[in-house]
Amino acid sequence: MYKYIFGPVPSRRLGMSLGIDLVPRKVCSLNCVYCEVGETTKLTTDRKEYVLCHKVIEELTSYLENNPAPDFITFSGYGEPTLNLKIGEVLQFIKENYPDIKIAVLTNGTLFYDRHIRQELMNADVVLPSLDAATDQAFQKINRPDIHLSVDKQVEGLIDFRNKFKGEIWLEIFILPGYNDHEKEIDSLKVLVKKINPDRLQLNTLDRPGAIEGIRPATREELEKIGLKLDYPNVEIIASALSRKTTKVYRDDTESTIMETIARRPCTVYDLRSILGLHVNEINKYLGVLEESGKITSEMGERGIFYKTT
Ligand code: SF4
Repeated sequence: MYKYIFGPVPSRRLGMSLGIDLVPRKVCSLNCVYCEVGETTKLTTDRKEYVLCHKVIEELTSYLENNPAPDFITFSGYGEPTLNLKIGEVLQFIKENYPDIKIAVLTNGTLFYDRHIRQELMNADVVLPSLDAATDQAFQKINRPDIHLSVDKQVEGLIDFRNKFKGEIWLEIFILPGYNDHEKEIDSLKVLVKKINPDRLQLNTLDRPGAIEGIRPATREELEKIGLKLDYPNVEIIASALSRKTTKVYRDDTESTIMETIARRPCTVYDLRSILGLHVNEINKYLGVLEESGKITSEMGERGIFYKTT
């Protein structure tokens, strides 16, 4: 059982993606209201070797020597990967030893004001930063950042990174009705997106209705309207649940195990993680497909969202 790598999971954007966790749950520079990993327990901008780089490299080597190569190795997981001081070393290791595997970094982008981080990510093929707010007011409301952060610092860092980075930048805006979807915010986001000039602009929202209490996903129609307002050449909506047909890696035995487990008693995603030993991100992909197909339903309980068979 690996501790720092997970998957490969079928990813909406990256095909078959082997994930790497470089920080423990839940170390992040933000505490987004929509975070599906849960509340941030360590809100920080301090960079440390939260997870030992040589251990990650050991696991990666063991995995890649014994399994087919994934489409991407993706830095993501339980928090903000750029908080790990050694992210650059892990990227360098992959580039030198597995040059045919592409590298993606899912990041909230808030620490890009740090030129060291911008430099460390140069070995990536795709960087997917977020920008959910154009004003500090909305930033506070939706992302609940560490005290040292601001939208201006983040945007300046992203512009600088854009000017030097040779790979692709796919900028994500997570739309949350009532938080960052009003006209003025969208107009201001439009200006910032043009300045950052990403290769793609991706609109996302919650995976499932009621995934987190008190907030709802934007509808397809709302996302389309916002996409038109942003008026960016490469804007796409990535917020639909993954269909089994378009999923490259969807294991029937994993689906059956999840179904058998929740048939006995309703479970949260964290119950399933403890019982099955799978990563939360991986479990979520299966839950999304199962819920979309009507095989399971979810409801809010005392410990979070509970999944049960229909
Ligand atoms: S940046 Fe990502 S991991 Fe951090 S709180 Fe926001 S959604 Fe969660």
